[in-house]
Amino acid sequence: MKQDYYTILGINRSASDEEIKKSYRKLALKYHPDRNPGDKEAEEKFKQAAEAYEVLRDSEKRSIYDHYGHEGLNGAGYRGFTGFDDIFSSFSDIFEDVFGFTGRRSYSRTAARQGADLRYDLTISFMDAAFGKTTEIDLERLENCAACGGMGTAPGTEPSVCPTCRGTGQVTRSSGFFSVSSTCHHCQGAGRIIEHPCKECHGTGKKKIKRMVQLKIPAGVETGVRLRLKGEGEEGSYGGPSGDLYVFIRVSPHEYFQRDGDDIVCQVSIPMTIAVLGGQIEVPTLEGFEKIKIPKGTQQGHQFKLKGKGIPHLRGFGRGDQLIITIIVIPKDLSKKEEKLLKDFATLRNEI
Ligand SMILES: [Zn+2]
Ligand SMILES: [Zn+2]
Repeated sequence: MKQDYYTILGINRSASDEEIKKSYRKLALKYHPDRNPGDKEAEEKFKQAAEAYEVLRDSEKRSIYDHYGHEGLNGAGYRGFTGFDDIFSSFSDIFEDVFGFTGRRSYSRTAARQGADLRYDLTISFMDAAFGKTTEIDLERLENCAACGGMGTAPGTEPSVCPTCRGTGQVTRSSGFFSVSSTCHHCQGAGRIIEHPCKECHGTGKKKIKRMVQLKIPAGVETGVRLRLKGEGEEGSYGGPSGDLYVFIRVSPHEYFQRDGDDIVCQVSIPMTIAVLGGQIEVPTLEGFEKIKIPKGTQQGHQFKLKGKGIPHLRGFGRGDQLIITIIVIPKDLSKKEEKLLKDFATLRNEI
């Protein structure tokens, strides 16, 4: 048994148009689905109020209802609403009045879509990977059109409910015992059609915008590391959240250093005489040159370790080590005198 429209709105049968509207606004606010998430009873009351208002605000429908009741309206082909979208778009003036911007968001809440994630490939220097860096990257991404707020409609206009699917985005065809649902071709499943598209975005609601995004590269990254910047992807549609931006890191090679996890490895040439006699040489480190002691009789390929001079650990504290591998340089350009001295040396050792 359907409830009386006047009772639903809490007004008497002689209520003026203004009273009807006022009363509906009050109920729409009270039972709005955004304010009563998951509350089936509020949902039902919200729908009932919308239906009552839809009929009583229209003098023709109101007159049919006054004379013939619910059956009279059925007979006249009135079917009520198909869903929230239908209600929000029919009374967008009221929802905008009552909720301001929230009304719009509520109107399109079923169509809210998350923005796409974006990928950005970034090549950085070996040193920036080692010590981290704050940098800026330029990218182009889809954002909501400023002229229409992402709605795709010309300013001052509203999308209308798709007449083919009545806002559901689905059409159902029956054939015999079967009924088949498919996406509505008229509105591509959106449930709404834009009759007056925004000139700026041609009705898409989106524009490609160049943006500069700040990026903090943590110390210790290496090739293949993926940094996630939450919410810096493409902007969501109809109040949906933005996607994320993923920055894929590639680290350029260094002229001296190679990486082995968080250790760095470099090869250092040592004159034959220092290798034999011992001494001091300068080696490159991540923080500039440093002197190291070469003991007497150092061999080709010997490894020296500088503890804690490697790459900072990306997760956790501390750093890797630096490994120095010796290359003993054999002179090829001996003078007569040098050659004589070396021959004497070899003779002493009975090597020639
Ligand atoms: Zn449609
Ligand atoms: Zn636009």
